[in-house]
Amino acid sequence: MSDPTKTRKTILVTGGSRGLGRHTALAAARSGFDVVITYRSQREAAEAVSNEIEALGRQAAALSLDTSEVASFDDFATRLTHQLRAFRGSTQLHGLVNNAGIGLDASIETTSEEMFDQLVNIHFKGVFFLTQKLLPLIEDGGRIVNVSSGLARVALPGYAVYGSVKGAIEVFTRFLAKELGPRKITANCVAPGGLETDFGGGALRDIPQVNEYIASQTALGRAGLPGDVGPVIAALLSESHGWVNGQRIEVSGGWFL
Ligand code: NDP
Repeated sequence: MSDPTKTRKTILVTGGSRGLGRHTALAAARSGFDVVITYRSQREAAEAVSNEIEALGRQAAALSLDTSEVASFDDFATRLTHQLRAFRGSTQLHGLVNNAGIGLDASIETTSEEMFDQLVNIHFKGVFFLTQKLLPLIEDGGRIVNVSSGLARVALPGYAVYGSVKGAIEVFTRFLAKELGPRKITANCVAPGGLETDFGGGALRDIPQVNEYIASQTALGRAGLPGDVGPVIAALLSESHGWVNGQRIEVSGGWFL
C-alpha cells in the first residue's frame, strides 16, 4: 500500500495564529493540505492553531517570522526547509499564502514616516522578498495567494498608505503570474472587505457604529467574518482552481458596489 503522506502537499500561511490566516490554515487542512503557519508574537495562539490542524489529521507546525524583517528571511527559509523535511522528507511547498499584516488608521495629514515604513515593509517589501526567498521551495505547478483588501479599490479615509500598499500587491500578483507561468505556478490575490478580527485594534468587530456602517455598505447586509474568506483562499490552492491565474478576487459580500 502506498504511503499517503508521500502524496500530501504542504502549504505555508503567514500570520496563521489569528484571524483570516487561522481560518485559511484550517480550511486548507480540511481540504487535505499539511500546513505550516507563521506568527510574529502570539506563539501560544499559533501552537493552538497547529494543534487544531493536527486534530484534523494533517501535519502542522508554527514558525516565528516577522515579515517586515527581510534580513531574517534566510534563517526563516532554513527553518522552513527543516520543517518540511521533518514532515515527509521532501522540501517542496505547494502553496504560499502571504496573509500576515496589520492595519493602521491615520489620515494623510497625520501619517508619520515610521507608520508609512511599517506598512510598506510588512505589506509590500516583506511580501516581495519573502516570495522571492521561497520561490526555490515552491513546486512547479504550485500556488501563491496574496491577501489584498477592498481598500485597494475603495478609498475610506484613514487608510491611504494601507490601501496603496495593497494596490501594490495586486500589481505584483500579476507580475508573479506572468513570470512564474513557465513553472506553471499560479498567483492570485484575494481582497476581503471588512472582517471581524483583531485587525486595526478590532474596531470593526468591537465598535457597533463601525460594524453597522460596514454592514450598511455591504450588499449581503453584514460585516465579513474570517470564515467567509479562508475557504476561498483554500480553494485557490486546490486542484480544481489551477486555471485561475493573475486575478484579483474580491470576497466581501458585495462591498461598496
Ligand atoms: P489579525 O490582526 O487578526 O491577524 C494578523 C496576523 O498577522 C497574526 O497572525 C499576526 O501574528 C500576523 N502579523 C502581524 N504583523 C506581522 C509581522 N510584522 N510579521 C509577521 N506576522 C505578522 O488580522 P487579519 O486576520 O484581519 O488580517 C489578515 C490579512 O487580511 C492582512 O493582510 C490584512 O491586511 C488583510 N485584510 C484584513 C481585513 C480586515 O478587515 N480584518 C480586510 C481586508 C484585508 P501574531 O498573532 O503573532 O501577532
